[in-house]
Amino acid sequence: MSLTLHVDGAKWRASQDAALAANPSLVPVIKGNGYGFGQDLLCAEAGRLGVSLIAVGTYPEVPGALATFPGDVLVMEPFRGSVDSALPDLGNPRLVHTITARDDLDALRAAHTSARVVVEGLTSMSRFGAPVEKVGDLMAAGYGEGVALHLPLGSGHVGEISRFVEAVGGIRPFFVSHTTADEVAELRRRFPEHRFSARVGTDLWLADRSAYEVRAHVLDVRPLARGDRVGYRQRPQPAGHLVVVSGGTSHGVAMESPASAATARSRAIAVAEGLLEAAHRVRSPFTISGTMPRFAEPPHMQCSLLALPAGVPPPRIGDTVPVRMRLTTAYPDAVVVD
Ligand SMILES: *Cc1c(COP(=O)(O)O)cnc(C)c1O
Repeated sequence: MSLTLHVDGAKWRASQDAALAANPSLVPVIKGNGYGFGQDLLCAEAGRLGVSLIAVGTYPEVPGALATFPGDVLVMEPFRGSVDSALPDLGNPRLVHTITARDDLDALRAAHTSARVVVEGLTSMSRFGAPVEKVGDLMAAGYGEGVALHLPLGSGHVGEISRFVEAVGGIRPFFVSHTTADEVAELRRRFPEHRFSARVGTDLWLADRSAYEVRAHVLDVRPLARGDRVGYRQRPQPAGHLVVVSGGTSHGVAMESPASAATARSRAIAVAEGLLEAAHRVRSPFTISGTMPRFAEPPHMQCSLLALPAGVPPPRIGDTVPVRMRLTTAYPDAVVVD
């Protein structure tokens, strides 16, 4: 039994190539679950794209990226002297650190005199960063290779980025996140002497939804009479068929946040009951015979019980069925690229 991510390799790569062509200085972001594809596959794809720099999220992701991608690796979480000083690879000449404070810069350089850094500025995102008036000094003190700015979702970032460009002074490369290709083009028009590179994950790896699909195996099917009880919770079911499919909580099934639930009603239920508890009240993400049946009960760790309504033709054991999942929270058993 397995939950598999099927990828149409030609289509997927064409969509990556198009994203890079539209935004040639982009820096591929490879972090977390590797956007469902896994970090190793994405590192190989970044190598195929021919970019010289990728960005990972955290220090634990660094060794794998250095081993599978031949170019430079920017780690986007800030280096903290108090937390990260004993990690391997800190002085690797292909690794670029993110610095937000003078103490951290000093701790890094005390141990690794030639460690490479960018300086992150604190934007309205308010996650990490040095205040705008400190970025120039940190860049000078650290021989920073660029200024990193992480913006909230949405658009309208040009004004905020421009304030950093003007405050920092000098000619600097800027690495910007969640900034559209149009905004990057506008920044280049305003500041032709600077280089702007967008750090992009979702719009690079997940740009063409028709290029990939999650599929589950049908593991068992049996008729249900109205009122039959099933599962851990022995809930009575409507008449129809019970369909057992691969894919459960360990794969990220039913882990979507309420904001991505399909309707206001399902969002409200999810908020009121908690995501998993609400699962039996909303449609499951599995499509069987053209319908999306309800969960008979909250998904199990590696499989799910679905209540297929009477009148819908049941699938056969061994069939594969599509699963609608957000790939940033998907952990498939296998990724198959054809
Ligand atoms: C995750 C992340 C990105 C990429 O975000 P996407 O929405 O996947 O493109 C860019 N910059 C930073 C700092 C991030 O944490």
